[in-house]
Amino acid sequence: MKRSVILVGLCLAILGCQNSSTLKQADVTQVELREIATAQKLEGLRDDPTALYQFLKTMPKGADLHNHLSGAVTTERLIEWAIADNLCVDPKTWIAGSCKLKPLPIVKAKTDKALYQTLLSQWSMEGFQGGLLAAHQHFFDAFGKFSAVLSEERTDDAIADVLSTAGKHHQMYVELMQGFGASEVGNLGEKYIPANEHWTEAYLLEKRKQIIADPLFRSTLIKNAAHLKTALEGARKLLSCDKPAPELGCEVDVRFLVSANRTKDRSSVFAQWVYGYELAQATPLVVGVELVSPEESPNSLRYYDDEMYALDVLHRFNKSNALRTPVHIALHAGELIPEVLPDTPAGQAHLKYHIRQAIEVAHAERIGHGTNVFEDEKPLDLLQKMREKNVMAEICLTSNAILLGKSGSNHPVNAYLENNVPAALATDDEGIFRNNITDEFVRAVTVQHLEYPALKKMVRSSLEHSFLPGASLWKIANQFDQVVEVCAGEVVGNPKPAERCAQWLNTNKRAAMQWKLESKLNTFENTVVPQS
Ligand SMILES: [Zn+2]
Repeated sequence: MKRSVILVGLCLAILGCQNSSTLKQADVTQVELREIATAQKLEGLRDDPTALYQFLKTMPKGADLHNHLSGAVTTERLIEWAIADNLCVDPKTWIAGSCKLKPLPIVKAKTDKALYQTLLSQWSMEGFQGGLLAAHQHFFDAFGKFSAVLSEERTDDAIADVLSTAGKHHQMYVELMQGFGASEVGNLGEKYIPANEHWTEAYLLEKRKQIIADPLFRSTLIKNAAHLKTALEGARKLLSCDKPAPELGCEVDVRFLVSANRTKDRSSVFAQWVYGYELAQATPLVVGVELVSPEESPNSLRYYDDEMYALDVLHRFNKSNALRTPVHIALHAGELIPEVLPDTPAGQAHLKYHIRQAIEVAHAERIGHGTNVFEDEKPLDLLQKMREKNVMAEICLTSNAILLGKSGSNHPVNAYLENNVPAALATDDEGIFRNNITDEFVRAVTVQHLEYPALKKMVRSSLEHSFLPGASLWKIANQFDQVVEVCAGEVVGNPKPAERCAQWLNTNKRAAMQWKLESKLNTFENTVVPQS
């Protein structure tokens, strides 16, 4: 193919080739050429795995919006902490715990290489050999095996480990999912909500009041709001953020999503979300709620409709009071394969509607995984709805390949992008999967055949769809070619914008981070393809 044809093709793929009036006219050609040259550089590296990894590692990556804190910690760190905290393990189940309950001291792994290797493979997917369902089981079992290691006292270490990894891979922001006390409060759901009651809006709002009034709710809330603050401060300290040589993780900002455990009864899930909404009122570090654990668990399937309705009620209640802090909603939905569902028409039907209900009923702003989009009865309509409502798909390629057997043409990421549905790459559980965000970018290029413009768009989408407070930098959703009026005329990403723009960025955290990303992308592209 002639170079000029390649240039035109790439230019067309690069969102309007930056034909924005907001960019200074003199810079337009330079920006276009720089992006095209960067895209060509990446194409030249496709067959060189080491160079491709290095190139993508240095690429600025915006946000990781789908990241489970407990599944994200490096397994070697978990073993290190288990040793430091004098924990033991059961050599039959590989569940860690107090040495009063478990027979084998983990400290032995210091000298016993076989034990160390077994812990590594039992607590992660390291070296796992087996079929899809076995992988599925091994993955979800891993959380329970090392959960005793991740005590509350280790939250600062866990956050520091995740931020450190994110910093090394040029990410700027992460949203971490965890219960943060939700499981304790979940029991209140079962206390106040009898089984088999019919759920209406009035009923649920009354139950909400009863749950909140319980002393355990208040004490858990106060304890965890304080705990999050101190844990984050502790993490920053561990990364030497206040020292002359801070770690790269100090560059990474973080917020939290309270995740409800869907393996519990619907009453528990409701109480967990009530708690999430209130924790977000108590601390600005919490920006949203989630729904986690296997989507195919019996309770998850049994109560899916009720739980989507419950979130609808809580969402509208929160929104109706202007004094309350907005609480965002991201939901795991459409992370199913037929093999994990009951082999009945009703069981298999779950493949068809979870994503749609999460959006249409529960107001999800982001969908975790969303791999079942083409199993919906009207997939094109669903894609159109996601595009129109600006709902983003959180794409976790490694996770989907290992747990669902979905990759290549079997994965919907290309369809999302082709249909202009917002999408961004995320790690899911980088500790257990032994992956990192760069691996996800490499997979996007080598397995999904994405090119630089698509990667850049996903990077921008990640910050656009973060739950950081404040307006977006971009004038039109999902089109990254025109900045808002107040910053029009500036070179986007200029470290020293004019006063009016600078002041606006100061009051809009999300836009400020997007501005910073543009600056990083400019630098990256200039470094990759030095200007003559
Ligand atoms: Zn997940």
